[in-house]
Order: sequence, then structure tokens, then C-alpha cells
Amino acid sequence: MNKDQIEQIAKRVMDKLEHESDSQVSSCVQTTSNKGVFESMDDAVEAAHSAYLILKTKSMTQKQSYIDAIRSVISQHVEELAELGVKETGMGRVDHKVLKHKLVIEKTPGTEDLKADAYSGDDGLSLIEMSAFGVIGAIAPSTNPSETVICNAIGMIAAGNAVVFGPHPGAYRTSNRAVQLINEAIQSVGGPENLVTTVCNPTMDKANTMMSHPKINMLCATGGPGVVKAVLSSGKKAIGAGAGNPPVLVDETADIEKAAEHIISGCSFDNNLPCIAEKECLVVESVADYLIFNMQSQGGYLLECPKLIKKLERTVLTENGSPDRAYIGKDAKYILKAIGVDAPESTMCIILETDKNHLFVIEELMMPILPIVRVKDSCEGIDLAVKLEHGFRHTAICHSKNIDVLTAYAKAIQTTIFVKNAPSYAGIGFNGEGYTTFTIAGPTGEGLTSAKSFTRKRRCVLAEGFNIK
Ligand code: NAD
Repeated sequence: MNKDQIEQIAKRVMDKLEHESDSQVSSCVQTTSNKGVFESMDDAVEAAHSAYLILKTKSMTQKQSYIDAIRSVISQHVEELAELGVKETGMGRVDHKVLKHKLVIEKTPGTEDLKADAYSGDDGLSLIEMSAFGVIGAIAPSTNPSETVICNAIGMIAAGNAVVFGPHPGAYRTSNRAVQLINEAIQSVGGPENLVTTVCNPTMDKANTMMSHPKINMLCATGGPGVVKAVLSSGKKAIGAGAGNPPVLVDETADIEKAAEHIISGCSFDNNLPCIAEKECLVVESVADYLIFNMQSQGGYLLECPKLIKKLERTVLTENGSPDRAYIGKDAKYILKAIGVDAPESTMCIILETDKNHLFVIEELMMPILPIVRVKDSCEGIDLAVKLEHGFRHTAICHSKNIDVLTAYAKAIQTTIFVKNAPSYAGIGFNGEGYTTFTIAGPTGEGLTSAKSFTRKRRCVLAEGFNIK
């Protein structure tokens, strides 16, 4: 080997070393300063996978300490996240988003949700344990951009997984801020970095990279029909939490004053963004006038003029009849102003009587607009409610004191959540019993998801031992 050849080899080695150290610096900068937020989806998945390998070595107590830290850190940033969500998406209400964040912090189950099962007999003992999937790809909606991230992260980490989030392009700053806070929280109690990751500037390509990445073991989509279909076509284990169009039925036995209060409160919560919120009201003819009268005193603005109703349709629906995104999640007063109506400050939602075939009734508007349809009796109401729910099996609400009506309606509609004599949000544990979730998996059947929904059941068998009967 001559001197030139030796110099060339030395130069190649030096170039390679320099390149490696550069890439180490850039990946180091990205992992430590961005707290889980990556430019590329591949990097986000790789980082979460490394974190998962570390998490596997941690005890349940340590995992619970990460959950406790998430609750504590997020509770100091509730107002910030609520304001950011409204500012970035232009949807919803800050005061209601504050309540939603508090609900997620307080009522999303942690490691206590995971219960082992056992079979004991002459042949010994078989133990069934809930174990992690690995790295979960979770897609978040624009309507609850940080609430879904926090709720999913608590449940998924409690179950021993790392998570890569696919945020909505119109809400990623809010989702990603939540990811950063979660990582800060976990690291503050000695947990691994990047247990939760995400991408900046999300695109459909990045979402597809996530769904097909070999290191993503499971998918969880919270959103409309498109994304649920996409994860269910992925060939991987997938949880789909899709759209709803919750009908509320009021019959002649209901406490009408209370029903009016509950319906307006549920339907105007976060300007009707929640998938569980009352989207159309069916009322038995004999109590319809009294219900509408009471709704008005609860902040319902009754729109009666046919010309204004037409104007409202033209304003909030696009030419193809779908809801115009410019009005989704907007304040009722803002929508009324757009049609030239100056409504009182106390206005919470717009109420109007419509035909059962009206697009306001059929479409999931996600606006504080409540169409009211008169029915002759509860039987007709139940049949219509089933039709309007479109088989989503999501949420339905009923105000009645007749146990037969309540039972018949619940049996006929087969929804994941059925709320009796309360606002819809009682169904996710807000002023209602039970834990909360922001991922309600009707299509795939997990129902109100929690840590155990993100586990694989594994059996461990010990023959001829540990049976003490
Ligand atoms: P959306 O479907 O427009 O978006 C949801 C997420 O899916 C976003 O992150 C988006 O980027 C992504 N996405 C959409 N289509 C995709 C595809 N083909 N491939 C990959 N990713 C895709 O929904 P949205 O407007 O943000 O949220 C509102 C919808 O979500 C409503 O229909 C509401 O009912 C539903 N939702 C359901 C639940 C539930 O728990 N069941 C909870 C919240 C919202």
C-alpha cells in the first residue's frame, strides 16, 4: 500500500466519523430539546420504540409514578392547553375545554385498570395477564386535540406501551404541546425520554408511514369515518373510535324543565364538538311546545323565521350539504351574527323546528345548532332515532320516566353509550358515574377505552402446582 492509498483510507475514515458524530448531535438535539416532537415519522417511531424497550424494564409502581406525574404537570397547564386549542383550531370554548382537561386528568384510569385473571384446579394454575402491545400509533382528532393525547397517553402507558401520535394537521400545535408536557412529566420522575412522540407538520404521508411502520404494533384512531376505515384496512390490530350523530328523545312522562336544561347544556358543551353531544332532538308532540319554551330560558335561541332558517342552511352547509368547517365548533352568537341576528349574551345554542329529513338532523354538524323534530309518540321517536344514528352505535340520550320506553329505546338503538335523564356528557363520567375516555370505540367494540383496551391477554401455565384447594 503506498502513501496516497493510506491517506485516502484515512480521509474516508475521518469523513465517516465526522458524519456519524453530526447525525448523533442532530438526533440528540431533536430528542432532548423537542421533547418527543420529530420532523420525520420514522424518527418518531424509532424514538418511541427505544423508549418502549426501557419501559419494559420498569415496575408497575414506576409506570404509575409516570401517570401521577402526567396528571400533576398537565393540571398546571389546563388553561394554556384550552386556550391553545381554541386559538389554533378556531373551534370550541375555552371554559368548556378547561373542564374537559380536568375530567381527563381526574378520571382516566391508570394501572389499577389492569386486572389479572386465574384458573386454578387439579392440573395446577393458569394465569392470564394483560400485557403491552409495544408501540401504539394513535391518531387524534381536531375536536379534542390535547384531551385525546392526554387520555390515550395515560391509558396506553399504564398498559406498558409507548405511543406515537398522528395529530390533525389543523390542531397539531395543541396535540404536540400536550406530548411535550407529558414527556417533561415522565422525565421529571426519572422515566425514559420519548415514551410519547409525534411529528411537526403532519401530513397524510406521515400518517400512512406510521400506519405501515413495522415497529408500530397496534393502531388506535379517534376521528371520523375516513380514519377509522384507514386503520381497519391496515392489517394490524386496530381500535376505531368513529363518528356519532346522537339523537335525544323526550317523551310525555319526562321532567320537561329538567330535560330542557340538560339538553341545552349537553348540546352546547364545547359548542357541540364532542362526538357524544346531542345532535338532534325528537320530542313527543304533546310536550313539544313546553320543551321548546323551557329550552329558551336555558339559553336556546329559537329561530322561527323561514327566511332566516334558509339563510342559516346556506351559511353553515357547503354546496354538497356537508357542514362548512368555517362554522364547526363556533359560538352560537357568532353563527347567528353571520345570518344577521344579534342574539343576547346568554345564548348557548340555536334551536329550530325541522322536518325529519332535514340535513341538520341527518348530518353530524358539530355546531351549537339543535334541530327539533316532533313525533306522535315514543314508538315513532325510537324508530326515527335508530334511523338518524346511522348505525354508528355511538351515543343516544333519553328523557323519560317510563322504564318501558327507556328499555325499548336502548335495546333498539344498540349504542355504546345510552344516557337516561341527564346531559350526554354524563356518559363519559362528567357529572356521571364511571371513568372517562375521549376514545369511544363503537365500531371495534372496546367501548369506552381504558388501559386494558391497549393490552394483549397472555396466559402463563404452571402444571401441578400452586393449586391449594
Ligand atoms: P377527522 O376524521 O377529520 O380527523 C381525525 C384524525 O384522522 C386527524 O388526525 C386526521 O389527520 C386523521 N385522518 C383523517 N383521515 C385520514 C386517513 N384517511 N388516513 C390517515 N389519517 C386520517 O376528524 P376531526 O374533524 O378531527 O374530528 C371529528 C370527528 O371525530 C367527528 O366525526 C367525531 O364524531 C369523531 N370523534 C370520535 C370520537 C370517539 O371517541 N368515537 C372522539 C372524538 C371525535
